[in-house]
Amino acid sequence: MKDIQYSESFERLWQEESEIRTRMQNKLFCITFLICNPMSAIAFLLSGDPFFYTLITAHLLSGVIILGYMFLHYKKVISGQQMSYYAFVTLILFYAFLLSRPHLSYVQSCLNLTLAVIFAGLVLRWPLRYSLVISALGLTLYPVSIHFFSNTALLKFFEQGGLFVMIAHCVFPFVTQLNYNKDKREFYFRYTLQQQNDALEQQKTIAEEATRAKTDFLSMMSHEIRTPLNGIVGMVYLMMQEEESDEKSSDLLKTMKFSADHLMAVVNDVLDFNKINSNHVVLDPQPFNPFDFFDILKKTFDPKANEKGISLVFSIDSRLPPQLVADRVRLSQVITNLVHNAIKFTEKGSVTLDVTEVARTHETVTLDFKIIDTGIGIPKSEQAGIFEIFTQVRTKTHSDNASGTGLGLAISKELIRLFNSEIHLESDEGEGSKFFFRLSLPFSEVAAEKKRIVRDAVATVNPAVRVLVADDNKTNLILATQLLKRKNIFYDTAANGQEALDLFIRNRHDLVLMDLRMPVMDGFESTALIRELDPAVPIIALTASAFENEKERAMASGFSGYLIKPFMPQDFYEYIFPFLG
Ligand code: ADP
Repeated sequence: MKDIQYSESFERLWQEESEIRTRMQNKLFCITFLICNPMSAIAFLLSGDPFFYTLITAHLLSGVIILGYMFLHYKKVISGQQMSYYAFVTLILFYAFLLSRPHLSYVQSCLNLTLAVIFAGLVLRWPLRYSLVISALGLTLYPVSIHFFSNTALLKFFEQGGLFVMIAHCVFPFVTQLNYNKDKREFYFRYTLQQQNDALEQQKTIAEEATRAKTDFLSMMSHEIRTPLNGIVGMVYLMMQEEESDEKSSDLLKTMKFSADHLMAVVNDVLDFNKINSNHVVLDPQPFNPFDFFDILKKTFDPKANEKGISLVFSIDSRLPPQLVADRVRLSQVITNLVHNAIKFTEKGSVTLDVTEVARTHETVTLDFKIIDTGIGIPKSEQAGIFEIFTQVRTKTHSDNASGTGLGLAISKELIRLFNSEIHLESDEGEGSKFFFRLSLPFSEVAAEKKRIVRDAVATVNPAVRVLVADDNKTNLILATQLLKRKNIFYDTAANGQEALDLFIRNRHDLVLMDLRMPVMDGFESTALIRELDPAVPIIALTASAFENEKERAMASGFSGYLIKPFMPQDFYEYIFPFLG
C-alpha cells in the first residue's frame, strides 16, 4: 500500500490518541508479568530445582522495579508506552542474568521466554524504535550472557528451545509495527474523514445561507411587486366594469388585464415556488369528498377543452372512499398545473385524468394519478430538466408557450415531494405525454361534509352593515372600498391603526378589514385594542405577505380571518360575505 505522508499536526494527534488507546494494554502487560513471573518460578520449586531461589529473588526484584514504573506512570512522569517499554527492558536484563545462572535444562526457561515475547507482541502497540531495542537486547544479551558467564555450552541453550526465543525476538518488531501501523492508518482515515466532514459541513452552511438569502430576496421582491400589482389588477377590473367605456379603450383594458394577470401569475408562481422550496409550506390535510373534488376540477377545465375541440376525460375509480384526507388546495394545484399543461400542449385528441386505487390499508388508500394527453409530447433530451424552474421546451415554435412561466412543473414536483412522493414523466415527441404520481392518503368511509360555496350572484348582505377598511396604501384602499361600494355596503376608511381604532369607537362596525403593516399603529396593536372593546366583531387581516408564519401570528393575535392580497374581486366577496352573515 502506498505510504501515507502524515502531517505534523496529525502526528501530534496520533501520539495522544495512541497513548489513550494503549492505556489498558500497557497496564495489562506490566500486571501480567508482576503475577506470572513469580508463578513461573513455582514450576522449578515443584521439580526440586535449586534454581528456584535465584529465580524468585530475581522476579521479586524485577517486580518491585516494574511497580516503580507503574507508580511513575500513575504520577504522570512517564507515559503508558514508556512504562511498558522500561518494564520490558528491565525484564530482558533480568532474564539475561538468569540465563547465565547454572541450568539443568533450558526447556522451561525458553518456553517461558517465548511465551513472554508472543504475549508482548499481541498486546503492545509501540513505535518501531521501542520494539527494535527490545529485540536487539534479547538477541544479543541472551547468547552473550550464556556464553561468557555460564559454563554451559551455548549450543545446549539453542537445542533446548533457545532458537524459538531468538525467532520470537526477530519477529517481535514486525508484529508490533504491523499492529501499530494498522491502528495509525485507521485513525488517519477517520481523522481525514472527520476533516472532510467538517469542511463539507462548512460548505453546506455557506450554501444554505446563500440559498436562504436568495429565497428571502425573491420573496421580498415578489412581495413588493405584488402590492402595486394588486392595485393595477383591481383597478383594471373595476374599469372594465364601467359601462360607459368605449370599445377601443375596452380593448386596451382587456390587453392590460391580460398582461397584468400574466404578471400576477408569474409573481405568484415565483413566490409559491420559493415558499415551498424553502420548506415554508406545511400541508394542511382536511377531509373532502374526492368525487365532488374531481367534478369541480373538471368543470373548470371543460370550457378550455371545448374551445380547443379536444375531449377531456376524468376517469375516477368508483371504488374510491367517500372521504379522503389531504391538502385539497395543494393537490388541486398539482392536478390543475398538469391538466392545464396537457390541454395547452394538445391540439387534437384527448386529455385524460386517471385516478385508480391500487392498495388500501386500515388507515390509508394508495392512489395512482395519471395525466395523459395526445399532444406534442416532450423530446427525451428535454425530459431530464423538465421539472427544473424556468424550463420551457420549444418556446420558439409553440406560440401558446409564451403564456407559461416555466414554474408549474417545478412547483408540482415540490408539492408532490411534500406529499412524500415523486412525480414522473413518460413522453415521446409527437406521441403525447403522461405525467404520473402515487399518493397514500388517509381516508374514511363516512362521506365528507359539503363545503358551502358563496356565490357572488346569490349572496345578499344586510344593507345596514358597516365595514371599516384600514390600509395605508391608497390604491388598496380604493380597490377594497370600490368593491364594497358595488355591493352597496357602507364603509369607513382609515389610513393607520390609530385612525381605525378611533373610527371603530365611534361607529362600531360589523366587520373590520385591517392591513397588518401600517404607520403610527400597526394592524396587530389596533386589533388587540378593538378586541378589548368588542370581542366578537370579525376582523380580517389584509396582507400581501407571503410568509406562512405571519398568518399563524395573525390568527393567534385575535384576527378572525386572513385574506392575502392581491385578491380577485370574486375571492374578496366570497371571503368576506360569510362574516357579514
Ligand atoms: P409552463 O408554465 O411554461 O407551462 P411548466 O413548468 O408547467 O411551465 O412546463 C414547463 C415546460 O414543459 C412547458 O413549457 C412545456 O414546454 C413542457 N410541458 C409541460 N407539460 C407538457 C405537456 N403535457 N406536453 C408537452 N409539453 C409539456
